[in-house]
Amino acid sequence: MNGTQNGTTENGDGPTWLPADSSFATKAIHSGYKPKDHTFAPVVPAISLSTTFEQDAPSQHRGFDYTRSGNPTRQILEATLASLDNAKYGSVFSSGLAATTNVIAMLNSGDHVICMDDVYGGTGRLFRQMAKTANIVTDFVDLTDVEKFKKALNEKTRLVWIETPTNPTLKVVDIATIASLTHAFSQNIMVAVDNTFLTSFFQRPLEFGADIVVYSLTKFVNGHSDVLMGAVVTSREDIHERLAFLQKSIGAVPSPFDCYLVLRSLRTLHVRMPLHMKNAFSVAKFLSSHPRVSKVLHPGLPSHPQHQLALKQSSGHSGLIGFYIKPGSGCPTKFLQNLKVFSLAESLGGYESLAELPFSMTHASVPAELRAQLGITETLVRLSIGLESMEDLVKDLDQALNAC
Ligand SMILES: *Cc1c(COP(=O)(O)O)cnc(C)c1O
Repeated sequence: MNGTQNGTTENGDGPTWLPADSSFATKAIHSGYKPKDHTFAPVVPAISLSTTFEQDAPSQHRGFDYTRSGNPTRQILEATLASLDNAKYGSVFSSGLAATTNVIAMLNSGDHVICMDDVYGGTGRLFRQMAKTANIVTDFVDLTDVEKFKKALNEKTRLVWIETPTNPTLKVVDIATIASLTHAFSQNIMVAVDNTFLTSFFQRPLEFGADIVVYSLTKFVNGHSDVLMGAVVTSREDIHERLAFLQKSIGAVPSPFDCYLVLRSLRTLHVRMPLHMKNAFSVAKFLSSHPRVSKVLHPGLPSHPQHQLALKQSSGHSGLIGFYIKPGSGCPTKFLQNLKVFSLAESLGGYESLAELPFSMTHASVPAELRAQLGITETLVRLSIGLESMEDLVKDLDQALNAC
């Protein structure tokens, strides 16, 4: 598959990204499940609601004993997710932050974490809270600055947490560089990448040396804004075994029904992502030339500081865009209230377009000083571009901007 098929060079003027995985679509539709392995061979997997499973003799069961430790529907989803990252193992959790919590639970008191400074608000809050309650100290570092990163590594470091592109300023972190520096420093440090923004369709961090990939499936992977779920994928057996133990012990697992919904969404991930990308790139180009806009953040634009790196490590960008509105006459509040196709709402990655103000909404919990340093100002708007008609999205943004 090349750039044309993933929607990047539609007009012949889009950037050239890393080639996409040519077998992705087939894996999204077929991997993790063979109908004939199941009674009655249903082509669509069954939802196994039972919490318990009859045993043939004490402790002799047919693969499942209690649904917290393992569930047939969940297992199909976990196997499918792993295959899309070309990974060996997948584990799902009741939310993206539950997935992160389980990764943090692999650490011990006294361990040190290095976390990208610009991360999902809830991830930052979780690492800050952990510092207090579990004596796990987190340093928030700009991982686009390799020298700063090297200085932050120490004997107690056990986890490096990357998010790329970042939320909400869409900085791009060099996964291969951070992973190789980390592992050269110590083999005992896990490199985790939160891949929520791009999904395995556009970026597969394990191929760049990461140990684990974390997802909020709530966003693009489920894509229909109706399920809260998270996942961790890895090819390391030691990590998988520990996570399976924690998944069972902590018990933050999703319901079989939700697993079914996410599985159903996975079947069209490769159809949805190129359209998110195409719509978002068109909107980014439109905003770049709008007189009420001072700056647009999108890794596919040559003006983006890590544009070349983005092209090198991902095969496209999703529906996320940031932009700064020129101050004046009640904006950006007026702009946000005047939108008609876009909803003013938190979250991202659904088929519907959303707009929000990170400063007072998703990133209100980021300390004020850090927020200012990161560029999360009162004029920064975040858009999640959905799958509506691109012309209608552009028209809507135009009329709302002109109302400012
Ligand atoms: C939403 C989000 C999370 C948290 O996921 P939940 O499913 O809401 O718990 C983590 N990382 C990123 C990048 C997100 O966008």
